[in-house]
Amino acid sequence: MDPVTINTTDVMQLSCYVAGKKVKPGHELEVRNPYNNRLVGVVQTATTRDVDNAVSAALKGGTRLTHYERYAILERARHLLVQRKEDFAALISAEAGLAIREARYETERAHDVLLFAAIECLKDDGQLFSCDVSPKGKHRKILSFREPLSLGVCITPFNHPLNQVLHKIAPAIVAGTPVILKPSEKTPLTAIKATELLYEAGLPPHMLSVLLGNTSEVAEPLVKNPAVDIVSFTGSVAVGKRIAATAGYKKVILELGGNDPLIIMEDADLDLAALLAAEGSFRNSGQRCTAVKRILVHEKVQDDFIRKFVHKSREYTCGDPSDPATMVGTVIDEAAAVYLERVTEDAVKAGAKIRLGGARRGALLEPTILTNVPRDADIVVNESFGPLAPVMTFTDINDAITLSNATAYGLSSGIVTRSMEYAMRFIKELKVGTVNINEIPGFRIESSPFGGVKDSGLGIKEGVIEAIKCFSFIKTCSIPW
Ligand code: NAP
Repeated sequence: MDPVTINTTDVMQLSCYVAGKKVKPGHELEVRNPYNNRLVGVVQTATTRDVDNAVSAALKGGTRLTHYERYAILERARHLLVQRKEDFAALISAEAGLAIREARYETERAHDVLLFAAIECLKDDGQLFSCDVSPKGKHRKILSFREPLSLGVCITPFNHPLNQVLHKIAPAIVAGTPVILKPSEKTPLTAIKATELLYEAGLPPHMLSVLLGNTSEVAEPLVKNPAVDIVSFTGSVAVGKRIAATAGYKKVILELGGNDPLIIMEDADLDLAALLAAEGSFRNSGQRCTAVKRILVHEKVQDDFIRKFVHKSREYTCGDPSDPATMVGTVIDEAAAVYLERVTEDAVKAGAKIRLGGARRGALLEPTILTNVPRDADIVVNESFGPLAPVMTFTDINDAITLSNATAYGLSSGIVTRSMEYAMRFIKELKVGTVNINEIPGFRIESSPFGGVKDSGLGIKEGVIEAIKCFSFIKTCSIPW
């Protein structure tokens, strides 16, 4: 594979890959910059025949990489990513409309994914069991160790075009499992460039194919294919539940939407609360599954908090994503911005007040703070995937816990308090995958377990270390001793 070059000035001409080979030109997918509608790239997409070929190539190629080879590939990919950080950041920003500062941050997270994955290649996590520990025992030992799966399918969303992709492929490489990637059609360019980067780093072509195309021709046949051992999906609840219903007899990992609260108690450091509310609501244009989607503040401190929050949020200027001074870029497309504008207007009709922002230009939506938001408004009942910050009040910790849990979702949460007693109650009583004290819900490191419950997921965690377990199975053997 030639060295990966990325040029976001010209229109990029890219192609899906079946085990390292470009698919035959035919159907094209255009990718436009959400900020200025400029054509960023054109992708040659795949057909059902390419799906069949990718499955066959993966199964034929097998799972023979040594642990050291897996380590070396991931390390080389990490070094290549460091060299091309600016190119990848420019590409993420151009196709997703994310501010360039966010895109740079995403490349740094992706770097960590590759680093932590490479380290895991060199560790054994097997166990030894002595079989003479029971009165009916025998002089034998049982040994457990991890084996690759035959084939995985990874389906990713648009909101972290590079990191989401590597969060699935890198653990699969550690496990030694070949995968077929189906990235979002809204951000395919970064996914294809990441695929090329891995080929350049020495990944055997059969270990990775990247396919895009009509859902009925590509994604659905992949999900249903009986040769696929695991479907690892990150995206919306609706699509996740459809996959769960159609995948058949295979492992299904679902990382779905969120409606995460930031809960501000009456004893909170309100400067910290204002900072966390702004960072949690507006980073990545509010398009993180763990973005703050509801701000719940104790009624005693609401006025002080809202004043500080509005003041802090004025720093989050929105505009041209390629400008390093821009804090908040666009959302993924104009249709998404129009939807967010509508739920904002509906909340206002139901009694909410806009305290900051609210204006939209194309796909650019100002960071928006709303107060007096009714508990049953669409904006807080459903996931509002954008830079909206609806504020609601509560009377005491019981009310805060009830309100927080009164959602179909259960991904993460952030609590701002100085009280250990409050912190412990939230940790025990919130029905979510994560509780972060004095942090945003989205705080994590790339290797820590991550994932939600209820409509946010089935409680099976990802994060580099847990995802390796998903992409492998434990075999045991026993021997006389
Ligand atoms: P989406 O519409 O569900 O799409 C996600 C992926 O699924 C895309 O690649 C999409 O392909 C594909 N897809 C669509 N229909 C499919 C089908 N019938 N079968 C198989 N695959 C299908 O989600 P999105 O709008 O890209 O992403 C935003 C959502 O992801 C939000 O809800 C967010 O909270 C969630 N998310 C969750 C996490 C987490 O870890 N919990 C992390 C990030 C994002 P096309 O692009 O071709 O339609």
